[in-house]
Amino acid sequence: MNLIQKKPNWIKVKFPIGKNYKNLQKLVSLHKLNTICQSGSCPNIGECWEQGVATFMILGNVCTRSCRFCGVKTGRPENIDWKEPEKVAKSIKILKIKHAVITSVNRDDLKDMGASIWIETIKLTRKFNPGITIETLIPDFKGEQKIIDQIIDLNPEVISHNVETISRLTKKIRIQAKYDRSLKVLQYIKEKNKNIRTKTGIMLGLGEKKEEILETMKDIKNSQVDILTIGQYLQPSLKHFPVHFFVLPEEFKEFKKIGLKIGFKYVESGPLVRSSYHAEKHVK
Ligand code: SF4
Ligand code: SF4
Repeated sequence: MNLIQKKPNWIKVKFPIGKNYKNLQKLVSLHKLNTICQSGSCPNIGECWEQGVATFMILGNVCTRSCRFCGVKTGRPENIDWKEPEKVAKSIKILKIKHAVITSVNRDDLKDMGASIWIETIKLTRKFNPGITIETLIPDFKGEQKIIDQIIDLNPEVISHNVETISRLTKKIRIQAKYDRSLKVLQYIKEKNKNIRTKTGIMLGLGEKKEEILETMKDIKNSQVDILTIGQYLQPSLKHFPVHFFVLPEEFKEFKKIGLKIGFKYVESGPLVRSSYHAEKHVK
């Protein structure tokens, strides 16, 4: 792989200024909601929000974990906002979102790890938005099957859980997570319900080698995952894990070809691809 160190042109995105962007910003701040688009400093925010698409992040905006690549605040979370599920569901209605992607911070501090809020959010999103499809980008719930079952039982069209990086770097970057546990969570979902599409995402540029990326893709495929997203890692701030290199757009295309060849149903691979980017395409 080419090892480009300086931020290349294909990473630069326009500053968001459109009318729809501003309306979405007002809606989110009025209801004190959180989005991974803002908290994760997503480079696609201008494009997605202008199209009225956002990924809501439930269970507050403080995560109990401290992944070194992630822009979400970390520490002791605030109390649960029991009105959050309804506010998210109603905001999705206002935005006329047809495919809702919902994610959350990790809440290892709670006995149910946030499952009750997840369940209420899925139920109310369906109630207020008949015909909607739902994609839940879930934490690993420490691999606890009883908790994961509660999400599976609600039958969201897609359940996603991000592996994020190769096995060797997981300990360094996703400090409280485990590579194998994430794979097991994905496999478990598919084994429990074959109709749910499973999905995961990885980032490149953290110091992995090409062979390690290919190995990871195979591991993910062996866990019966349907959809894979591959994007460029961008450092949210100087405190975060540094970008080791930028991957060329042609190389991303090559990974897409390889992914399709080894049997994934969908592969989105490109510098600005994030797990919720153009997610609606994968439920058609
Ligand atoms: Fe939000 Fe996902 Fe779009 Fe990024 S790609 S702005 S996280 S919806
Ligand atoms: Fe960010 Fe998720 Fe890691 Fe929390 S668990 S720090 S939200 S990537």
